[in-house]
Amino acid sequence: MMNKKGRVFSGARPTGRQHLGNYLGAVKNYVALQDEFECVYCIVDLHALTTLETTENLRSNTYEMALDWLAAGLRPEETILFIQSHAPQVCELHTILSMITPLGKLTDLPTFKEKVRQNPNNVNYGLVGYPVLMAADILLYRASVVPVGVDQSPHLEFARELVRTFNYHFKTQALVEPATRFTEVPKVLGIDGQQKMGKSLNNHIELAATPEETQKRVLSMVTDPQRQRRTDAGNPDVCNVFSLHKIFSSADEVAMINAECRKAGIGCVDCKKRLAHDLNESLVPFRARRAEIDQNPDRVWEILHDGGRRARAIADETMRDVRAAIGLP
Ligand code: ADP
Repeated sequence: MMNKKGRVFSGARPTGRQHLGNYLGAVKNYVALQDEFECVYCIVDLHALTTLETTENLRSNTYEMALDWLAAGLRPEETILFIQSHAPQVCELHTILSMITPLGKLTDLPTFKEKVRQNPNNVNYGLVGYPVLMAADILLYRASVVPVGVDQSPHLEFARELVRTFNYHFKTQALVEPATRFTEVPKVLGIDGQQKMGKSLNNHIELAATPEETQKRVLSMVTDPQRQRRTDAGNPDVCNVFSLHKIFSSADEVAMINAECRKAGIGCVDCKKRLAHDLNESLVPFRARRAEIDQNPDRVWEILHDGGRRARAIADETMRDVRAAIGLP
């Protein structure tokens, strides 16, 4: 740990089996960051409660997600992988931080407005405080670096402001201002070729799907909408199948498809079959590791519990300093 550059924190809601969007947009980066930083990755079950109608799948979603993250390459001996609610200190810090948070700042955030649009009938107190809870997580683990996409950057700026306010007000250095590390988050489109890949739209391809399921999903992908017939020339630049080829196929194959599609030398069905094949090939090691880890669910829970113990130890230290700075008796 000593030779690493600092501590990274990131969290994601327990959404269950991960899809290509989660992998390319987040998990791949989580894995890579381990080489440079001490990493703390959290499955934020409390955050999930702000929009959940039922908690029925919370446990299985947490397990499936942890399984995917581990199979993708998280190394639990060095990385802390844990469940947010297992370190309840975050709730205390959340309450404390909420006392120095102007309400208007929260209701002005674009992410809050978006959530209200999505769930007009469930604008709960927790939803307003979502960024305060997120800040509490980041600050509790004294993250020096937080990887974010542009859409999350207002939340991080908000966390940084809270640190300045808290430290100034209580004349302390108890909280550490995290640096933003902008990650190039690719927007992976779903099989509809139009909208961001996501579970709620059912336009996703799961990493852990069988090769047959994967092929079925890929064959249903929407390609260049202008290309109506096999004999029409296509435009790979607007085709989501081609964008995935660029990630999962060899340079030679990408060059071939790029050239042949434009002169109707290759049809969409053939192009999709090739993608399904390449995607399945790329996922062979991941799927094998996943199946192996899944043989022993107790081990996955033990990793999460062990992560929880390590997370609580850091959280205790921070809270000791925070309480002392405030002067809580
Ligand atoms: P959360 O609300 O915790 O961000 P999501 O399941 O929406 O949960 O996303 C988890 C992570 O995966 C986030 O970092 C998000 O940016 C990324 N992600 C999800 N879908 C996509 C996608 N289609 N393209 C790129 N990144 C995505």
